[in-house]
Amino acid sequence: MMNIPFVDLKAQYESIKSDVDQAVAAVLSKTAFVGGPFLKQFETEYAAFCKVKHCIGCANGTDAIAIALKALDIGPGDEVITAANSFIATSEAITMVGAQVVFVDMNPATYNIDVTKIEAKITPKTKAIVPVHLYGQPADMDPVRAIAKKHNLKVVGDCAQAHASLYKGKPVATLADITCFSFYPGKNLGAYGDGGAVVTDNDAYAQKMRMYANHGSVVKYYHDMEGINSRLDGLQAAVLAVKLKHLDKWSDARRNNAYAYNKALEGTSLITPKELPDVKAVYHLYIVRVPAAKRAGLQDFLKTNGVDTGIHYPIALPFLKAYAYLGHSEKDFPEAFKISQEILSLPMFPELTKEQIGFVAAKVREFEKL
Ligand SMILES: *Cc1c(COP(=O)(O)O)cnc(C)c1O
Repeated sequence: MMNIPFVDLKAQYESIKSDVDQAVAAVLSKTAFVGGPFLKQFETEYAAFCKVKHCIGCANGTDAIAIALKALDIGPGDEVITAANSFIATSEAITMVGAQVVFVDMNPATYNIDVTKIEAKITPKTKAIVPVHLYGQPADMDPVRAIAKKHNLKVVGDCAQAHASLYKGKPVATLADITCFSFYPGKNLGAYGDGGAVVTDNDAYAQKMRMYANHGSVVKYYHDMEGINSRLDGLQAAVLAVKLKHLDKWSDARRNNAYAYNKALEGTSLITPKELPDVKAVYHLYIVRVPAAKRAGLQDFLKTNGVDTGIHYPIALPFLKAYAYLGHSEKDFPEAFKISQEILSLPMFPELTKEQIGFVAAKVREFEKL
């Protein structure tokens, strides 16, 4: 029997312990807790990593999306289009700024927004599209950008699950007006607490986001507007700067793990993930599809054999109680509804071994013979 956790943050910490401990000690000795050199260094390095001009740290990925929408002057009376299958943070941020969320069904091949269904949802009130790069795979950005251009809409990318992913060789952050990241500990680039960032090439948006996230001021006590308090603290920034150096290597490890799973699961009834051509998907999660009637049984069987799994997400956004007021039914988002009954997330993290992947696949095969 093996115990295979769903994610293993400890294994990663052990691998970079001395650098992280030194970075944390440096922040403490300089008492650079909010703002300061560690934040500035990480913002500079992360903007360069994303190949954009500006990075502004903030408190979490949910705020990042709200801060981006605010900078684009999106608020009450406006509609914002996003994917029906995501974590609730995406739609919460739209509601937070006072705008109306409008969901679009997903493409069953990639689990990302179905770009052929976006235009039908555009009204005179639509101001922006928020594609989510779900599970680590970039959304199909060329058509998203073409639609946005045609209808004069902004694009805000939700990249909370896809740090370091590439679309046609380019970081996804270069393909949107503003791109938003979460550094929640379990994300591909995770802090040791909450954290987030917005990145952009646009100087005016950058200035506005920096002010809005810091009480509406650039110079302390001179407030040009009301903002919020949403900052990335020095300790988190210092940890993230250490981890950023390893991110490409960790992303490659996730990809190799995904391909090893694909191979090991060949010939089973599980449907393994598909990549769009010409993307670098970074497998924040490794999702398989299991016939709905078998899913709970497989999940229990794996649990009994020491393998932790998850479901991301058991209820698609439009069907959550939180969105009952929109009055949606299953037929409005048939693909998102269908996969929510079938998806299962297998353990995925960079340090996962070939042996562990082989063990999971062997247990899947054993279950299928029962
Ligand atoms: C994690 C996540 C967020 C929000 O990030 P937090 O830092 O937890 O606020 C937003 N969107 C998606 C798709 C996420 O997975």
